[in-house]
Amino acid sequence: MAVSKRVVLHFPRRLVDQPIVSRLVKDYNLDFNILKALFTPEEEGLMVLEISGEQKDYDRGIRYLADTGVRIQALSQDVIRNEERCTHCGACVTICPTGAFELEPSTRRINFLNEKCLACELCIKACPPRAMELHF
Ligand code: SF4
Ligand code: SF4
Repeated sequence: MAVSKRVVLHFPRRLVDQPIVSRLVKDYNLDFNILKALFTPEEEGLMVLEISGEQKDYDRGIRYLADTGVRIQALSQDVIRNEERCTHCGACVTICPTGAFELEPSTRRINFLNEKCLACELCIKACPPRAMELHF
């Protein structure tokens, strides 16, 4: 059975310059599209991929990624904002790789555009009052 799934891959620093993802094609018969990639020098790398192929190849490919030390997150997870906690400080605006936070110029409030969110979790650590929460 053919599948096509979106996943977020978190690469620890030691793996950032390794050709890990290309082996999905060569060794596991899978196709992938890179939907988003973000690498910071001092932290980890993050990549949002759409992976397609046969279910058994997908399962093997995901196991291979996990064995190398990549943390894999399915996009079924949802990040939401606890409106009561948000102080509209703006710390999340530049952190978000997809532009899911927007400054409303007239009110100076920060809007959270949930439909743009890829659940990468970067804002969860960056938000001073811990207003961003991960839900399953
Ligand atoms: S960092 Fe947190 S408190 Fe600040 S605007 Fe973003 S969600 Fe709100
Ligand atoms: S989890 Fe936060 S930083 Fe990541 S895409 Fe969603 S809103 Fe942006």
